[in-house]
Amino acid sequence: MAHQYIYRAQLMGTTVILTLFESNRSVATAVFSSLTKLESLLTVNGLNSEVMAINQAAGLHPVTVSPLVFELINYAKQASLLPRSVFNLAIGPLVKLWRIGFKGQTVPKDTKIQECLRITDPNFVELNPEMSTVYLKKKNMALDLGAIAKGYAADIVNVVLDENGVSDAMIDLGGNVLAKGQSFTNEDNCWHVGLQKPFAERGELLGMIKIVNKSIVTSGIYERFFMHRGKRYHHIFDPRTGYPLDNDLESVSIISEASLTGDVYSTIIYGLGLMQGLEYLSHQQMLIALFVTKDKRIICSDKLHFDFVKLDAAYSLWYFDKQLKQITLVH
Ligand code: AMP
Ligand code: MG
Repeated sequence: MAHQYIYRAQLMGTTVILTLFESNRSVATAVFSSLTKLESLLTVNGLNSEVMAINQAAGLHPVTVSPLVFELINYAKQASLLPRSVFNLAIGPLVKLWRIGFKGQTVPKDTKIQECLRITDPNFVELNPEMSTVYLKKKNMALDLGAIAKGYAADIVNVVLDENGVSDAMIDLGGNVLAKGQSFTNEDNCWHVGLQKPFAERGELLGMIKIVNKSIVTSGIYERFFMHRGKRYHHIFDPRTGYPLDNDLESVSIISEASLTGDVYSTIIYGLGLMQGLEYLSHQQMLIALFVTKDKRIICSDKLHFDFVKLDAAYSLWYFDKQLKQITLVH
């Protein structure tokens, strides 16, 4: 059985864990420095970054950005304009107003929320591919790429690993996992990725997903939230109302090839809720989702053609039958 070598770093607001099958500090350094560079371009919490420069120039002038940043913003704008998408790259003013997960988190006055909604239209984000510029057309607009930055980062790590001749490894950015190639520490050569139990200690699992060469990304309402007068306010906003989304789900995990795809769709599918999300996925061959509902069901969007081992007896396991358009109990 192969030995695993684990490298950790505190980056992108989370603990990043790299798993290799050889001791190779220089690969770990290359991976972590690519993430440090990306974070310095994208952050909206640090001192300065290209995204902060765009935000500071809102309503004033376009800002030239590096190709990496332009590519991500372009992707994010397209994802924001998809029909029925709750993903919105211009959600920044709402994130800053609510401050969920940060000091000063609060239920804002409704008038303030309505003010924000006037400047969160993705069509106000103007992109010029020839000049590689981004312009936010209204004052006080702000991009927030928090919903996709880690997915993009995992895909960049994938490239860095390829460049270093590493074909089998895992990168975990705080639950945003890219399981590259195979795992040689498991007899089945699959990576075993835990499905986090909502609102439980980190590492307490509902089950184990077995995958080979795939990304798995989760959006959950338990990740960042606060309670106010008995009501939970979590960190994924409905861009139509300016309030946190409210539906039957506690989390959605997307299994996909690229991690950026998984990251954006975990937010979009969460926003659709269970039944609309399942219907949406029945037209998307490349995406598989695992839903965790408030009524303690784990529901797979397709026949379980990957292995899932349920570990929590309080939850039941279901799958969506695309032909019958109904949810069917597995056990
Ligand atoms: P995720 O955990 O990937 O679903 O991303 C959640 C983060 O995305 C939040 O902490 C916000 O920074 C940001 N966000 C919240 N609501 C939205 C939204 N509707 N569209 C895009 N980003 C959002
Ligand atoms: Mg996401």
